[in-house]
Amino acid sequence: MVNSILDMKKGELHVHLNGLVSSEVVIKLLEKSAVDIPQSFDLKKDLNILEPAKNLTSYLKPWDVLRLIPKSRSDLTLIVFDSFENLRKSNVKFVEIRNSVLYIALLNNVNIEVAMSWLLDDISRASEYYKIKAGLILTVTRGKSSLEILRLLLNAYVKIGKPELIVGLDLAGDEALDYPNALPYEFIRAKTEFGLKITIHAGETGCFENIETAVNDFKADRIGHGTAAIKSQSTLELLREKDICVEVCLISNRLTNAVGEGELHPVIEFINHKVPFVICSDNPSIHASSLTDDYLEFYRETSSSQHLHDMYRNQKKYSFIKGLYGN
Ligand SMILES: [Zn+2]
Repeated sequence: MVNSILDMKKGELHVHLNGLVSSEVVIKLLEKSAVDIPQSFDLKKDLNILEPAKNLTSYLKPWDVLRLIPKSRSDLTLIVFDSFENLRKSNVKFVEIRNSVLYIALLNNVNIEVAMSWLLDDISRASEYYKIKAGLILTVTRGKSSLEILRLLLNAYVKIGKPELIVGLDLAGDEALDYPNALPYEFIRAKTEFGLKITIHAGETGCFENIETAVNDFKADRIGHGTAAIKSQSTLELLREKDICVEVCLISNRLTNAVGEGELHPVIEFINHKVPFVICSDNPSIHASSLTDDYLEFYRETSSSQHLHDMYRNQKKYSFIKGLYGN
C-alpha cells in the first residue's frame, strides 16, 4: 500500500504557498536578501513544526520570517518553482495554491495588481513546466481589516481582467477574531458576480458554530479543517446534505493540536457520517512532510484503501479548477 500511495495521482486543494516552499530555499532567500531576522528566531529549528505546538499561535511562528520574503521578482519565481517541484514529488496533477498577495506588494513596493500579476505569471509558467494544472485562491486574513483586505484583492482582480487562474477566496487566521458584519456579504457578492468559489478555514480551533456560519453566511463551497464538526450532529448533517467538502489536513491537525494526542482523527466520523472530504497538506514544508505523508497518515488512522482509491476522483469533483474531468 505504501508504494502505491506514492504512485497515486493526487490533487491538492488546501496548501499555502509559504508552507509549500522548501525550508532550504527560505533560508537561502533570507540570507541573500540580508533580511533582519527577529533575535528570538532560530533559523535551524524555528522554520519547522515537528512536534504538536502548544496552540495555533506557536504553530504560526515560522511565519515571523516567511512574511519577510520574497524581496524581488526573481525570488518569487524561485519560491513558486520550488513549490511545484515539491508537488511533483508527491505526483500531484493539479493544485489550488493559496496566498494573501498583499505582503508581496508591500515587500517589493509595487501595487497589488502588479504583485498579483507576478504571482499568476509564475504559477502559470510553473504549471506548464511541471504539467500540473493550477489555480490560485486569494486568502483573506480574519480580523478587523478583513473587509478592507478583501476589497483590495477584489479590486486588483478586476483591474487585471479577472484572470481565470484565480479560482476562489479563502478566509484564514485566528477564528476567535471578530470581523466586520459586511464581510460575508462581500464574499457572496464575489461568488455571484465573478463566479469565485469559497473556502473558509473553520472549526479548526474547536468551534463548530464557525462551520455553520461559513456554510450559512459565507456560502462556503468547502471547509478548511472543520475538525470541530464532530462535536455537533447537526453540523455533520449540514455538511453532508449541502455536499460541502471538508479539506482534511491530518498532519497539520496533529501539529496545531486541533486534534489532541490520543484522540482519534475526526475524519473517521466524516467517513461514518458520509461527509465528503479530501486529503490535503496545508503547510507540508513546515511539517517537513508532503501530501504523500498525509495520505500515509490517513491510511494509518483509517486503514481505508477504498477512500484512497476514490480520492483523486473526489479531489477533481470538489476542485475549484474547471475542466478537470477526463484527466
Ligand atoms: Zn490552511
